Amino acid sequence: MTDPHRNNVTSWSRREFFTAAGFLGLPAYISLPGLSTAEMAENTVHMETDVLVVGGGSAGLPAALAAFRQGVRVVVAEEDPQIGGAPVDMFVAMPCGFPRFGIYRELLDILETTYNIDGTPVRKEDETKDHWYFPQLYLTAWRKLLGSHKKLRIVTGARCIGVLTEDAGTRNRVTGAVFDAGRGQRLSIRASVVIDASGSGEVSELAGAACRYGRESREEFEEPFAEESPDTTVMPCTWMMISQRFRPGPAPDFELFKSRAFIDSGVGWYGLNQDDVRGRNTGAYLHWGPTVRCADTRNSIELGKAASQALEKLGAEIETWHRNGFNLWLAPRLGVRECRRVEGEYIINMNDLKAGRIPDDTIALGAYYLDAWGHKLTEDQRRVDPYGIPYRAVIPRGMGGLLTAGKCISGTHLAMSSYRVQCHVAQIGQAAGIAAAMAVKHQTRVRDIDIAALQQALIAGGIPIDRWRKGDIDVRWRPEPSSCKD
Ligand SMILES: Cc1cc2nc3c(=O)[nH]c(=O)nc-3n(C[C@H](O)[C@H](O)[C@H](O)COP(=O)(O)OP(=O)(O)OC[C@H]3O[C@@H](n4cnc5c(N)ncnc54)[C@H](O)[C@@H]3O)c2cc1C
Repeated sequence: MTDPHRNNVTSWSRREFFTAAGFLGLPAYISLPGLSTAEMAENTVHMETDVLVVGGGSAGLPAALAAFRQGVRVVVAEEDPQIGGAPVDMFVAMPCGFPRFGIYRELLDILETTYNIDGTPVRKEDETKDHWYFPQLYLTAWRKLLGSHKKLRIVTGARCIGVLTEDAGTRNRVTGAVFDAGRGQRLSIRASVVIDASGSGEVSELAGAACRYGRESREEFEEPFAEESPDTTVMPCTWMMISQRFRPGPAPDFELFKSRAFIDSGVGWYGLNQDDVRGRNTGAYLHWGPTVRCADTRNSIELGKAASQALEKLGAEIETWHRNGFNLWLAPRLGVRECRRVEGEYIINMNDLKAGRIPDDTIALGAYYLDAWGHKLTEDQRRVDPYGIPYRAVIPRGMGGLLTAGKCISGTHLAMSSYRVQCHVAQIGQAAGIAAAMAVKHQTRVRDIDIAALQQALIAGGIPIDRWRKGDIDVRWRPEPSSCKD
């Protein structure tokens, strides 16, 4: 099948993959629900790689690109029909937080210079203002970035449903993952290192890693703003949407937009800069649509119920928007802020962020306030100091051959509310990708790689850990709590 937009990316659709690949045997220890061993042997396609990244989103794509740049073979397996993750499938199409370094910077450079919403490049000095980009442009930008790497394989339409493991003494060692391709067909990918970049931490849980879900008690990590007792509440979900005017008219009606936070591009939030918005009046706006609680974001049926509730909330409002000359586009998926957090060798907590701790094994840099939706904090309580994310937080405790990247890394509910934004998770992904490649190249366990060498590789890749540690980076532009909302 020829796709003119495909550049050099080896991106296989399900059908292409199953046509192209040969059938080999099935290792005896895989057990998948619903199929006998003989049926699995017949219906399973096998593949092998050095690094397998499960999830082609905000963290997974930097992980894959970074690993590939280290010279190892990489496969990204993504359940959506296309890559991109939250910016594409949840319309989370606005960069938030700082710093914006490394591969994320490369992505932004493409978006800012090529695709800004009104066609004019974003000037660097404007970066503290909010900008957003049409979701599919993230996809285009990623394809540009990934495009020159012929052997980086991307398999879309592949949902991870199982993990290959072997007993490695005291640890459960992950050796690959199994994907559902529909109609009883399975894809089994063996890898030296698997990176769980699923956002939900589902892959790690399938592998047997311990996962956290919900809010910690105040006592557990002595987090002063945590709940008295632990519970299973996670941040609410928001259905992101884009409004677009279908007939020319005056600048947006602020009364109409009042209930829906929105941004134009290059201006601040609604209510802060109405005159700016009126002045620009691009006619297309990104909105934080209906927000709802989901009883359990690990459960797809509960997510479905939450999505129905969100639609109900939006209800008659759609008519009002239409009468005022606007169409609304809902994101393909309800925006899920929080799911599992995989317990690592270190659990980041809010005190680390408030104190601006930059641990010796820092692999990613953060400067974004505590943004725990559904949790009332004063502006002062939300403020953090520029902090570092330790490598230990991406190594699942008691596991081998497995790293995490993205919002599912090891941290408390409150800490995660800060590091979950895209500029941070992309750096985490970049680091996990390099670490995985180093483990492959040096034939060592992921926990035994040379951290100093990893940090040097990150510095070479545009993440200045050394300067961050010295306080040598200008963080004047750190957003004030009220200037951004995600
Ligand atoms: C409503 C909302 C608003 C937000 N606003 C902002 C904002 O303004 N700015 C900002 O920077 N951040 C914002 N965030 C946070 C940020 O977008 C996310 O935390 C971040 O994108 C998470 O990155 P990730 O790589 O962990 O997950 P994702 O980007 O979601 O990527 C995970 C990928 O894994 C795939 N996947 C999942 N399970 C499987 C499986 N079993 N098999 C195969 N593939 C799988 C998914 O399809 C997805 O493509 C917002 C989040 C939400 C929900």
